[in-house]
Amino acid sequence: MAATAKTRHRSADRPTKKPKLGQNFLVDIGAAQRIVDALGDISRCTVVEIGPGRGAITGLLASKAEKLIAVELDRTLAAQLRMAYLRKAHVEILEADILHIDCDSLVQGRSKQITTAPQEMPHKVARVVGNLPYYITSDILLKLFECHKNFDRIVIMVQKEVADRIAAESGTSDYGVLSATAQLFADVENLFTLPPEAFSPPPKVHSSVLRLRIAPKAAVLGVDEKGFIAFLRSLFAQKRKTLSNNLKPHFESAQITSAIRATGLKADVRAEAVPLEQMAALYKSLYKK
Ligand code: SAM
Repeated sequence: MAATAKTRHRSADRPTKKPKLGQNFLVDIGAAQRIVDALGDISRCTVVEIGPGRGAITGLLASKAEKLIAVELDRTLAAQLRMAYLRKAHVEILEADILHIDCDSLVQGRSKQITTAPQEMPHKVARVVGNLPYYITSDILLKLFECHKNFDRIVIMVQKEVADRIAAESGTSDYGVLSATAQLFADVENLFTLPPEAFSPPPKVHSSVLRLRIAPKAAVLGVDEKGFIAFLRSLFAQKRKTLSNNLKPHFESAQITSAIRATGLKADVRAEAVPLEQMAALYKSLYKK
């Protein structure tokens, strides 16, 4: 049946469907090039691409990287990419959920050896890149931090507001658990921002590209990663509350007061004002480490 003017109008008004699996494909080729450039020299590197999609970044990576492993959850897209790179032995397309991938075997099982300490097992280091599916940005980041020993550099596109939070410094309103956790593992640079028109379909938000140079700080700060990350979560549990109030479900008031004083912080300080070093000092004071 031919669409009447009325039905045509209605379908044009219908809100655009939320893209499946965060599929907003990059169509700005210049931006794709800048993302690949941000990885540095990858001619002797294994690169892991998260969510290659229709391959906007993949093609550029394939022409530069020594080895490329692209992990795509969408069965159809993964099959199309596999066909496209059939003759490129150095490109591997995995149809898988990045959150369920074992990073150690992905990288240690396949990538080129870059560093070898004399008495140690050879340890291989790869680089990660991706225009991330925004619905799981935090989960992907936490996963990458968990297995950070496999990587030396991560270049990712995320929603601008999330990028601002990841890169935020203490003392700013954007500083939160994501910033503190990211900075525990890496030096973060906010590289550039793209408007919605750089993607198809255009998302409702702007997007930013971040570069994270892996530089773990837990050992220098004298904290254990797992326990300290859990502690950071409790410090930021409710952003409007003081740090002391956020700690109350976990410690006696007297303990909190004396640890805050010993760390040189004000009694009514909020977590967003506290740099990582002082958070570590507070952690060690509370847990007598
Ligand atoms: N890299 C492409 C580009 O820049 O045009 C696509 C980026 S799009 C924002 C995100 C991609 O991640 C989509 O291809 C989507 O299918 C894929 N994806 C979504 N969830 C995923 C997951 N859990 N594991 C791996 N890939 C996923």
